[in-house]
Amino acid sequence: MTLPRKELFDLPEGVLYLDGNSLGPLPKGAAERVARVMRDEWGADLIKAWNTAGWMDLPRVVGDRIGQLIGAPEGSVATGDTLSIKVYQALAAALQMRPARKVVLSDTGNFPSDLYMAQGLIDTIGKDHELRLVAPEDVADAIGEDVAAVLLTEVDFRSGRRHDMGAITRQAHEAGAVMIWDLAHSAGAVPVDITASNAEFAVGCTYKYLNGGPGAPAFIYARPDIVEGLQPALAGWLGHASPFDMELAYRPAMATERLRVGTPPILQLAVLQQALEAWDGVDMADLRAASVTLCERFIREVEARCPQLTLASPRDPEARGSQVSFAFENGYPVMQALIARGVIGDFRAPDIMRFGFTPLYLDEGDVIRAAEIIEEVMVKEIWRDPEYNRRSRVT
Ligand SMILES: *Cc1c(COP(=O)(O)O)cnc(C)c1O
Repeated sequence: MTLPRKELFDLPEGVLYLDGNSLGPLPKGAAERVARVMRDEWGADLIKAWNTAGWMDLPRVVGDRIGQLIGAPEGSVATGDTLSIKVYQALAAALQMRPARKVVLSDTGNFPSDLYMAQGLIDTIGKDHELRLVAPEDVADAIGEDVAAVLLTEVDFRSGRRHDMGAITRQAHEAGAVMIWDLAHSAGAVPVDITASNAEFAVGCTYKYLNGGPGAPAFIYARPDIVEGLQPALAGWLGHASPFDMELAYRPAMATERLRVGTPPILQLAVLQQALEAWDGVDMADLRAASVTLCERFIREVEARCPQLTLASPRDPEARGSQVSFAFENGYPVMQALIARGVIGDFRAPDIMRFGFTPLYLDEGDVIRAAEIIEEVMVKEIWRDPEYNRRSRVT
């Protein structure tokens, strides 16, 4: 198997897409797949398609395919809803597992939605839990005996900094805490062995490196040995042991299925299933090696050409995910000028320009070309054009 596999994606001509860490590109065949699901399944079979087209099983089938990419056994990954919801579910279950403890530990580099969901859950429970935030480098030392759950995103969305999943999980367990990993910037980006980590929960989204499209369903993993004791906080009918018996009382399904909530998004799941075919035969170690090569080359090229930009990612590839960030005061207009020239990355306030590297559809030639265009925008100060200084809603 060789990388890249550009032929599997529909990328517009002339675009260097360095934003697959935020929204993956359209996989070839996905549009046709959705058209078939709509016409031949929904259109022709109507409600029968839940059985005839395997719609009811699709969340589990897709979950198992994601499981292969994160080292999770069959049946341990449920799909659906959004990542924010899955964070809520995992944390609610974790807090029930440690009723005597009141602290949720996370870090200041975490994605805001994870923190908002945690605080919202704490407020809803109303049992005086505390969301405690420390700097990412201080997490390990902050895991004390009062911590119920450690909620961390492995790869920082701004800087690409990567936590040591194995070591932190071990420390959490030594202190008696439950470990929840958010794999939003890990799944499809770096090798993950969630089983080896021994973490209780993992969650992630599928529209970033997994190319499932905007609004693609999220996933949640629960360690198989704890599933039977989990009380789902969002006890929806499709997490019931027997949804179509329409019982008045909730009885959780026996496996991770209990972390399903309501009706699955079939069209999005069909896109995702198609997108996941791009991973067939991909060895995550090969992918990681290619990702490191691309990131290292990018850093070298950009630093040599643009001394105005400051690397905002760890220099050590081991401590980094599959993205590279540069800080620059005028990062927003610079990024707009780059996008206008076909180099698509994105901007995160206050001053971070993010570039994602996705070996499925990028090679070193793309990286060099992107660095040349960045140099042009910086040297000629093209970003000063007022057109590039108007803020859009999505940055
Ligand atoms: C992208 C991302 C999210 C987004 O959550 P949604 O509910 O899918 O919008 C949440 N957490 C992290 C860590 C992310 O990277």
